Amino acid sequence: MGVYSMLKDIFVSIDKHYGEMVDIRRYLHENPELSFHEYKTAQYIAEFYDALDIPYKKNVGGNGIVATLKGAKPGKTVALRADFDALPIQDEKDVPYKSKVPGVMHACGHDGHTATLLTIAKIMKAFQSELPGTMVFIHQHAEELSPGGAKPMVEAGVLNDVDAIFGTHLWAPAKFGEIQVSKDVLMAGSDRFEITIQGKGGHGASPHETKDAIVIGANLVNQLQQIVSRRIDPLETAVITVGKFSAGQSFNIIAHQAEIVGTARYINKDIQEQIIIEMEKVIEGVCLMYDATYTFDYYKGYPPVVNHPNEAELVLQAGEQIDDVQKVSEVVPVMGGEDFSYYLKEKPGAFFFTGAQIKDNFQPHHHPLFDIDERAMPIAAKTLIQAYYNYQNQ
Ligand code: MN
Repeated sequence: MGVYSMLKDIFVSIDKHYGEMVDIRRYLHENPELSFHEYKTAQYIAEFYDALDIPYKKNVGGNGIVATLKGAKPGKTVALRADFDALPIQDEKDVPYKSKVPGVMHACGHDGHTATLLTIAKIMKAFQSELPGTMVFIHQHAEELSPGGAKPMVEAGVLNDVDAIFGTHLWAPAKFGEIQVSKDVLMAGSDRFEITIQGKGGHGASPHETKDAIVIGANLVNQLQQIVSRRIDPLETAVITVGKFSAGQSFNIIAHQAEIVGTARYINKDIQEQIIIEMEKVIEGVCLMYDATYTFDYYKGYPPVVNHPNEAELVLQAGEQIDDVQKVSEVVPVMGGEDFSYYLKEKPGAFFFTGAQIKDNFQPHHHPLFDIDERAMPIAAKTLIQAYYNYQNQ
């Protein structure tokens, strides 16, 4: 069978399995598990490979699972990756497949990633005798919580025999039918910081006898905003967001302590270093002004997702080759983070967005009403398979 008529048969088979794909996704959606606690999900994935008689390893770098399908024809070894953890969010959707776990929800689409990859495995198993090369299915735990699952999986050697890797994120900001990729940075580096200001509490009527942690903290929050606007080169990209500010007990008590927690995002590693230095200066300066002390902890998280141009080009071509894809575009980076970055530091590959926005009902990722257009799953599957073949045939 020619490669192209075979791909056609594979794509027909994906469409035939759409109902099953949706069932898998909805089962996972109803039964979400938090990062590093995805035991039942991992078991579900393992049993799926048992039923397919595809060999796999479990507990890889944590709850990760790696299955390997060796094709009958020669070729390269190419990995496809899907993550499978959920988030600490209460599902507020009114749908039959709503989460059954209070306070836990698949609010990022990782359920859909897993359903997509399992369906690819099932279909490609049926085409094993025609398959060139080896397809590796990386099911990764704990994408949502740094230090994440990708790093330990890479350290466990999942990429040792792999020539290239592809992955996708079902993406609500992108319209259904779109594929978005970058030949360079697709997603930002994402860090976290925690600042504690130690002032001196006291009576609300006697501020001169205190060091008001709220006033110091409020000033600090303002000063932190000026790092990006006044200190960093305007042609560079950076974000400093304070996401949490807690201090104070009551209306007539001056706060003793304030806690300020947030995230920093960057694309260029030098900018990450500059952010850390500038933050330290600002915190030290503000606290000096008020004679307060502080602690400052900065945690480096996932590095930026930097695609390799050749593999990104193969994804662009794949998008063009698939009839269901209406638009393929090269996009500028988004400031969200992803630990797919660790795979791309090791091996050539590309990460891309598969448009999954529900028409007239856009809800952002990590929102209690988040949902995906499930028809994006077969598009994601076809694009990943096409990219696999394009890599084999280049
Ligand atoms: Mn995600």
